Amino acid sequence: MEKIVSLCKRRGFIYPGSEIYGGLSGTWDYGPLGVELKNNIKQLWWRTFVQERDDMCGVDAAILMSPEVWKASGHVDGFQDPLVECAKCKRRFRADQVADTCPECGGKFGEVRQFNMMFKTQIGAAEGEGSISYLRPETAGGIFVNFKNIIDSFHPKLPFGIAQIGKAFRNEIAPRDFIFRVREMEQMEIEYFVRPQEWEQGFESWRNATRGFMESIGVPREHVHELEVAPEDRAHYSKRTIDFEFDFPFGRKELCGLAYRTDFDLSAHAKASGADLTYLDDATGERFTPHVIEPSFGVDRTVLALLASAYTEDELGGEPRTYLKFNSAVAPVKAAVFPLLKNKPELVAKAREVYLMLKKQIPQVMWDDNGNIGKRYRRQDEIGTPYCITIDFDTLGETASLKDTVTIRNRDTGEQERVSVDSLVSRIA
Ligand code: ATP
Repeated sequence: MEKIVSLCKRRGFIYPGSEIYGGLSGTWDYGPLGVELKNNIKQLWWRTFVQERDDMCGVDAAILMSPEVWKASGHVDGFQDPLVECAKCKRRFRADQVADTCPECGGKFGEVRQFNMMFKTQIGAAEGEGSISYLRPETAGGIFVNFKNIIDSFHPKLPFGIAQIGKAFRNEIAPRDFIFRVREMEQMEIEYFVRPQEWEQGFESWRNATRGFMESIGVPREHVHELEVAPEDRAHYSKRTIDFEFDFPFGRKELCGLAYRTDFDLSAHAKASGADLTYLDDATGERFTPHVIEPSFGVDRTVLALLASAYTEDELGGEPRTYLKFNSAVAPVKAAVFPLLKNKPELVAKAREVYLMLKKQIPQVMWDDNGNIGKRYRRQDEIGTPYCITIDFDTLGETASLKDTVTIRNRDTGEQERVSVDSLVSRIA
């Protein structure tokens, strides 16, 4: 795990939050390559679950919401973790994550108390109870409060779903394990509305879709395990939950979840707001409150699962190397273009031409002319670039039959092939 954290910092994937001020616990900043990786994941998710389906639509709701939302959803009263404090060193822990004594100093714990994980904030200039709101602890709230808007403006037929990607905040008692447990995170969530009697069918199809998505982006199926969550461990709104756990370097832990939230949320919001959140079935004339299946993905945990799955150490040409075996769809850089020598203007000019041609069609292409070719390969391997393209004298026509061909090197095998410039886009994309 230390190796992954160090690679992420060194190569510009992920940095500690507010680092020059000593850091801020539970926050991480995504650097240039991290943000590309994260965006690729989000775009693939959006494409798979929203754009390619005709029973889904998306929203991007405000992070700040009326505090009434979180009262109605049960988060003000129930979104809490058990907290214990060590009598000796005063450190605080989540009671369900520690044994009977303090892991830091061996001291005794005081009474377990409940700690609400929502970040409180104040809206507007006037202070006082009336101006308190919360940073959303899950994106789902923004979906439920827009249920009526979607019905009124799009008239979707059941079953249908609403998706959202966005930040969520939890004042975790013990943030840990790099970006696994953070205080500011990003979620990709779907609320899929169904007829009450059809919830099992919906649950099953989202169970398969969740597995399929993880596999499609490069999280190996054999490292994802389903855990049927026992009733006493389920969130307050859930009648059935499956946690999809992943074999992280620090153990098997939740990667994403699937919950059957019944009509808990729509009914609670209808009651608290007075709005009509029922659905009128045209076919039967029946009016009822839909039930909901919720697949909930953490972006940061998905990034970490991908990093852990891709991190590889091997030997190439008799030398040890470290590389990230990303699949092309998520790789932050799809290909790197090099001139063989950086002090030969004609090589550099041709390489720039190839680079700019590729970049127009595949924006995530990188230019590199630093150091010798071997070093450039090493650097690109380390950030997971699937292909390296080198422009040499043959590209310029030194051997007439090879004019306008380049070498393309495969990251995983290290093998090089000579191909025409015209074929590059279709090979890389
Ligand atoms: P955990 O039991 O690990 O605290 P949870 O069951 O509270 O997680 P959910 O409420 O189901 O998590 O949230 C949905 C998803 O959001 C999780 O599967 C996870 O991917 C992500 N997530 C939740 N809390 C965090 C966090 N503190 N840091 C990073 N991702 C998180």
